[in-house]
Amino acid sequence: MEIKNATFVVSNTDYKKCPDTGLPEYAFIGRSNVGKSSLINMLTNNKSLAKTSVRPGKTQLINHFLINKQWYLVDLPGYGYARISKSARAQWQKMTNDYLLQRETLMNTFVLIDSRLTPQQIDLDFISFLGQNGIPLSIVFTKADKQNQRETALNVNAFKKALSNEWEELPPIFITSSVSGTGRSKILDYIELINNSKSTLEQ
Ligand code: GDP
Repeated sequence: MEIKNATFVVSNTDYKKCPDTGLPEYAFIGRSNVGKSSLINMLTNNKSLAKTSVRPGKTQLINHFLINKQWYLVDLPGYGYARISKSARAQWQKMTNDYLLQRETLMNTFVLIDSRLTPQQIDLDFISFLGQNGIPLSIVFTKADKQNQRETALNVNAFKKALSNEWEELPPIFITSSVSGTGRSKILDYIELINNSKSTLEQ
């Protein structure tokens, strides 16, 4: 898929106030500092569409970006901030859970995982939550340029192994680098595939 245009539409704290155009949407979420803003900017060919984190934990909003006037890219607030109050954590959970569970136009959730890390419980728990609630997801390993392919493969395989305790069939997996652009066309093609199958179903 070619990105012809990408524009910021709106920020919300409540899924009910999200755009009501019925266009399909794709959410991106992960631990703070995982590289989500960089990935969004890489995918959309825009250096500053999503704000790369200056103060972690500051933006706790659901951000909608309209892509090619056809679909929304949704930037969800990150999880796993070390220094965050209980009430802020509860607020994050309510806002994102409501969005993920109730948003009818949500086609897929891309869960970002830092490819330099061994499997982290917080990520496995979040993926479990999506799986248990039947929310379609894919896994995106970030920052693959920061190490060699072998090291990335070791962490990806360890992650797959951890997932296979709960999953019979693993979700789609993408390996990316926002620096080199690795994985960009695969993710965009995947989104296009889902968009096309949705419009075929509607015909
Ligand atoms: P966010 O908090 O998840 O939105 O993460 P950011 O996109 O702000 O990235 C966090 C830090 O990781 C920043 O210093 C980025 O420059 C860096 N970063 C993000 N993605 C990549 C990547 O693919 N490769 C490299 N080398 N650095 C990255």
